[in-house]
Amino acid sequence: MATVLDIAKRNPNAAPVAVSDAARAAGFIEKTAELTVAAGAAPGGASLVGLTRDQLKDSLSQIGVPERELKMRVAQLWHWIYFRGARDFAEMTNMGKELRTKLAAAYTLARPQVVSEQVSKDGTRKWLIRMASTGPLDKGAEIECVYIPEVDRGTLCVSSQVGCTLTCSFCHTGTQRLVRNLISAEIVAQLIVARDSIGDWPGATPPEGAFVPSDGGRFVSNIVFMGMGEPLYNTDNVVAAIDVMSDGEGLTLSRRRITVSTSGVVPQMERLGAEANTMLAISLHAVRDELRDELVPINRKYDIKQLLDACRAYPGLSNARRITFEYVMLKGVNDSDADARKLVQLLKGIPAKINLIPFNPWPGSKYECSDWERIERFSEIVFRAGYASPVRTPRGRDILAACGQLKSETEKLRARARMMAEQGIGAEGVYAVGIGE
Ligand code: SF4
Repeated sequence: MATVLDIAKRNPNAAPVAVSDAARAAGFIEKTAELTVAAGAAPGGASLVGLTRDQLKDSLSQIGVPERELKMRVAQLWHWIYFRGARDFAEMTNMGKELRTKLAAAYTLARPQVVSEQVSKDGTRKWLIRMASTGPLDKGAEIECVYIPEVDRGTLCVSSQVGCTLTCSFCHTGTQRLVRNLISAEIVAQLIVARDSIGDWPGATPPEGAFVPSDGGRFVSNIVFMGMGEPLYNTDNVVAAIDVMSDGEGLTLSRRRITVSTSGVVPQMERLGAEANTMLAISLHAVRDELRDELVPINRKYDIKQLLDACRAYPGLSNARRITFEYVMLKGVNDSDADARKLVQLLKGIPAKINLIPFNPWPGSKYECSDWERIERFSEIVFRAGYASPVRTPRGRDILAACGQLKSETEKLRARARMMAEQGIGAEGVYAVGIGE
């Protein structure tokens, strides 16, 4: 769900995705392209970064590590890759030299390529990341990942698909076709790239002047699946990635600090709760089916009642584990007092908090952001009914990392930044670092 960032780019070389006419007419499809790729694959072998324990075991088997040693060797690799952030097998000094040589001959610890990094005046960071190529015609899918630091937490917003099959009318990603699902390793690799960049490994330090949490905790303490794509159309990979991210011997993110945001893929919600045990966010945005059918077209398949019934049944739901309902504020569309009252009525009995999101217009969008007074009035009604209703402060607007802003805009910005750099003009508050282009 693209609620924090929203970027997309068509990949002209990507395999086409079969979409039936009926699905197109309904505004969504549920089948997505699956490709076999090795995250971060680079010359010299596939990368081990992002792999699950089982995948690491297979990789070790393939280079002849005996069965009796596999468990121990996986534990060693796991520690080096996910606890220490190792980038070279030579660092793995508790493994014999012969094994390290074999590993280096067959595999790498490469990360996906960071095409650019932008840093906002408010400390928000946005990376454009190019995944490994899936074949001779594929230059590698590009996705964006955003880091939002606050004093007491650092939130990483990750993508789960390249593009999106859904066509939420307020979201630009919805106007781009789906290229493919990300595999679990590519989802995990977004966290690795972020931690490399902000120095969030033992012994590492953040870049000069970087804004990171100052409470002594991890620099990346929270993950939100609110980037490009619908996570519950890629549940297998999302659940596998969460297993790696939350493993207590590696990246150690608490599952309570991982939030998966869905537009309302009702049949997958219980599975998410049962298998991933994460926090849940719902991209709600409307309280009447006719309007939600337009704003979030999956509503035509799973209407508001079905969605809220699935929320009530979400495993582990309690006052300590509330569901977040995302509500984008669209002027004259969904922002009336009656809408606010209907919202609290609908959510009755669901431990919930409501995030009000000022809409970020994008070129060609038909909506405007509600006036500030209207947002405050809406928030007041929700708050008086007993729900927390924070208005999300837009972050990273100057680097187009906020809700509804576009990768195509990012590319314009990069071109502009390059031009300004060539002419010796500073780009106000923004720097775009082109790497490997
Ligand atoms: S599910 Fe809707 S809001 Fe989320 S990325 Fe797809 S089109 Fe955008």
